[in-house]
Amino acid sequence: MDNTFANKSIHCTVSQCKHNNTSENYCSLDSIKVGTHEPNPTVPKCTDCESFVVKSSCC
Ligand code: SF4
Repeated sequence: MDNTFANKSIHCTVSQCKHNNTSENYCSLDSIKVGTHEPNPTVPKCTDCESFVVKSSCC
């Protein structure tokens, strides 16, 4: 799967993810899974995109 598609329903600026369309700041996937690493999430940073995959060229 390439990242040239821009799913206008999923705005994302995580450029380190291989699914990110970095030229348009959208996700290239048809859908994503969002979860949490907290027992009782209360703010946005408690949530995670569980579809994230690091770019091989990143970090
Ligand atoms: S998989 Fe998640 S982190 Fe990666 S581009 Fe899509 S929304 Fe962003």
